[in-house]
Amino acid sequence: MKAKSNYALKANVNGPVLKMIRNYGLGADCVSGNEIREAIANGFPADDIVFAGVGKTDDEIRYALKQNINCINVESLHELKVIDVLARGLGIRAQVAFRINPHVDGQTKPEITTGIKINKFGINMDEIPLVTGLLSRLSNITFKGLHFHIGSQITDLEVFVELAQKVNHIQQIFVEAGFTPSLLNLGGGLGIDYLNPVGNPVPDYKNYFRAFLDNLNRLPGQDLYFEPGRAVVGQCGSLISSVLFLKNSGSVKYAILDAGMNNFIRPALYNAHHKIQNLTGIGKMHKYHIAGPVCESSDIFSKNVLLPEIKRGDLIVIRSAGAYGEVMASGYNLREPAHSVYSHDFAREIPKKVML
Ligand SMILES: *Cc1c(COP(=O)(O)O)cnc(C)c1O
Repeated sequence: MKAKSNYALKANVNGPVLKMIRNYGLGADCVSGNEIREAIANGFPADDIVFAGVGKTDDEIRYALKQNINCINVESLHELKVIDVLARGLGIRAQVAFRINPHVDGQTKPEITTGIKINKFGINMDEIPLVTGLLSRLSNITFKGLHFHIGSQITDLEVFVELAQKVNHIQQIFVEAGFTPSLLNLGGGLGIDYLNPVGNPVPDYKNYFRAFLDNLNRLPGQDLYFEPGRAVVGQCGSLISSVLFLKNSGSVKYAILDAGMNNFIRPALYNAHHKIQNLTGIGKMHKYHIAGPVCESSDIFSKNVLLPEIKRGDLIVIRSAGAYGEVMASGYNLREPAHSVYSHDFAREIPKKVML
């Protein structure tokens, strides 16, 4: 019986970050075959890796099975049948958990909620009888447990209490059908404080875990897994960019940066708020629209930000960019990627590229 956190690699896959997280003893939650490869390359043992995702390719499933990872989280009945066939082809049994959609609204942005009924993620609760029926027939499947992940950037901990209660109910349905889960995987989703990254850098893990420990009907010997991504790395990274130009459009003052939505898409994609600071400005305060150079009107990091007077060449920092930042970068407009540097590197040599 253990409780364990598996870091969701998709938030940030930089090698030094993964190695550090592994050194703290976390496992890995992967959503592609290449994430599994990256986890293994950075020291995560196969038995500490779980694999989720609504669209796994045959090659990815075979690779995961051959590596003998801890568990595959199955997101549909169709996927379950395919895994059974692929496992038979390899002459092994697949260890699986079922990702059940518990119909809990994460009270977060619609773009990042995953637990409501019409979502593409997970198996719907009304299909559970079909799952247990299939389980009795498929000979290359070993049932491990249940998986849930209801969305991201959840800051209202009552949502996790509600999830725990739903999990109890769903677990009971499986137990009554003769399938006792030895594993409950509660997913990720714990939010961070984007408004105040300096004053509040570490999320409320204590009450987050309490919400589950106090409310789950944990069966004897049952393992609990959690899958934090954003909570672990979000506050640990910043995007630093320099100002190319200043311009006025009507009454609006724009500061145009050399970083754009190609480097960091969260503001354009989710209308996400990130704290922005002028690292090199000390003058009078003005309001600015902070924009990137990309040929899209949505390439704006934030509007009406009150900052010390911005000059060409000033360094602008976009905070809380450690999660879902660099991993979502694109090559749009054939722009250069941002270069990663790590705080422990500053003691040694700063690469020329970031001397700006
Ligand atoms: C994205 C994801 C996570 C991590 O979510 P965070 O909100 O970053 O904690 C965990 N589990 C699964 C299955 C995911 O898809």
